[in-house]
Amino acid sequence: MRITCVGGGPAGLYFAVLAKLADPAHEITVLERNPQGVTYGWGVVFWDDLLDDLFEYDPVSAGRIWDAAYKWDEYEVRASGKAVTHLAGYGFSLGRHRLLDILSARARELGVRIEYQDEVDEVPDADLVVACDGAASKIRELHAEHFGPEIDMGRNKYIWLGTPKVFDTFTFGFERTEAGWIWFHAYPFDDERSTFIVECTPETWQGLGFDRMDGEAGSAKLAEIFASHLDAQPLFDHKALSGGTGWLNFRRVTNRRWDAGHIVLMGDAAHTTHFAIGSGTKLAIQDAMALADAVATGDDLPVALERYEHRRKTAMAPLQRAALASSRWFEQLPDCADMPANQFSYALSNRRGEYPTWRYVLHLSTQRRLPRALLRKALSARRWNRARRRVLVVNAGH
Ligand SMILES: Cc1cc2nc3c(=O)[nH]c(=O)nc-3n(C[C@H](O)[C@H](O)[C@H](O)COP(=O)(O)OP(=O)(O)OC[C@H]3O[C@@H](n4cnc5c(N)ncnc54)[C@H](O)[C@@H]3O)c2cc1C
Repeated sequence: MRITCVGGGPAGLYFAVLAKLADPAHEITVLERNPQGVTYGWGVVFWDDLLDDLFEYDPVSAGRIWDAAYKWDEYEVRASGKAVTHLAGYGFSLGRHRLLDILSARARELGVRIEYQDEVDEVPDADLVVACDGAASKIRELHAEHFGPEIDMGRNKYIWLGTPKVFDTFTFGFERTEAGWIWFHAYPFDDERSTFIVECTPETWQGLGFDRMDGEAGSAKLAEIFASHLDAQPLFDHKALSGGTGWLNFRRVTNRRWDAGHIVLMGDAAHTTHFAIGSGTKLAIQDAMALADAVATGDDLPVALERYEHRRKTAMAPLQRAALASSRWFEQLPDCADMPANQFSYALSNRRGEYPTWRYVLHLSTQRRLPRALLRKALSARRWNRARRRVLVVNAGH
């Protein structure tokens, strides 16, 4: 089969690797608009579950990713005016450049053709076209009537920066400024650099003047705000090199369907996942695994593509819900930033909604350690009444 992947990100490259492993007779081409070695962003995090999948599907590239990955242990939470707290957990991180180097080298070894500096603006001629050209997919837009994309803009402003400060571990930092709270997630991704993602509400962003600053001035201002965490190291914004700035609003992409004849969406082109749970690359790579499995069955293409879409939409639904809950938690962060350190860290670690944080918060309110008005603001009237009944039952049992 002649297969063309539009986009040489993690999804496109990994799918090319797996499809070629499944059938060396496939003619596979990856078209990437950037020059080789050029990409956006800094390091990404991942966990054991992705490594397990990688070792199962291609132990060769998995071994290289494992060797290159930076291992970190526990989460540190620092918020101005509060004691530093630690949350259990460990994970891995890797520079995006390094990940793409590993995957493109593996794809080439297997005989995949990769063409760089090839910006695609129409659907290429192939038996199967995989549109893995990112969140702003051109191919998706060309067939929007089939895919039915929907894009929701997140409220908060964020920027993806890098720094030569090597953090000890995954660190959340929150600073109170005269314009409101602003925070970062930082983690080392090699021995020389860390990723540094900053987020704040649009009011704080404007209040601090970021709407009037270019990339260089903005990075310098952020380095000043977060100076106590950076040990005098700078922050870098890729976009500043071209005179721009990397501040964005997160775009949550969903599509009614993922296939249109012989064209199929994969990775961020099909769905995006808020960066606050660090899973977009994992989901893009797992899409590649599912699509390669579906194509390898030898079923007619429409059947195979439908099976792929169904498998992925079902598998990722819980994580998508967690990502939404997490992004909303950060959008409402100013409401709970005044909690004492332990409660704040607890709420942060449960922001995905996997454990019902409200129950803990309600417990505190019954102990008169939290103003009930704050709690009522956070819970809808129905949820409040239901939660109150449950706590009364628990208390009556004691
Ligand atoms: C701030 C931030 C932090 C993140 N952190 C993490 C994290 O810690 N862990 C994690 O798992 N995920 C993270 N993600 C998500 C992750 O970056 C994406 O989900 C992932 O890169 C998706 O992979 P992809 O291959 O689908 O798309 P992309 O990586 O976007 O790749 C698409 C490729 O297509 C190319 N392209 C686009 N248009 C064209 C065209 N017309 N012609 C040719 N080529 C084209 C682009 O140049 C790009 O190389 C983060 C995202 C953000 C915004």
